[in-house]
Amino acid sequence: MLIVFCGILNFVEQTFRQLCADHGIAMTHQRQVLYEVMQGMEGHPSPEEVYARVKKKVPAISLATVYKNIHLFVESGVFRKMSVHHGSVRVEMNSKEHHHMVCSRCKSITDIGEKELGLSPARRKLADGFLVERYAVDVIGLCAKCQQT
Ligand SMILES: [Zn+2]
Ligand SMILES: [Zn+2]
Repeated sequence: MLIVFCGILNFVEQTFRQLCADHGIAMTHQRQVLYEVMQGMEGHPSPEEVYARVKKKVPAISLATVYKNIHLFVESGVFRKMSVHHGSVRVEMNSKEHHHMVCSRCKSITDIGEKELGLSPARRKLADGFLVERYAVDVIGLCAKCQQT
């Protein structure tokens, strides 16, 4: 039983080691815990939300360290950052192509697919030869909850 358990731990560590190598960052224990915690989160966590969870596993970690490593993850391409004009940095945990419904009152962010939004598939070329990589549409409005209050 113990051997099996160690085997799993090793596998996780190996996977993370490979990920770090692929993205050109140094592997540390703190980064591994941070990565695992973030993998278990959904939606668009802010560094503060990530910090609250990581602190339970690594009590000595500081918010500044969490910030620094999230930036590193985003810059090296481990995670994707969502568009930043909603205030603080948010990490995108949904790897599928999608857009966002942003509530102008409570600032909640909800994912919405291209089809549900009524958009036709993204065109690859736009005016002046602009080559499209991806579309990220922000729909600003009031969420159902805020409309009731
Ligand atoms: Zn709202
Ligand atoms: Zn999203």
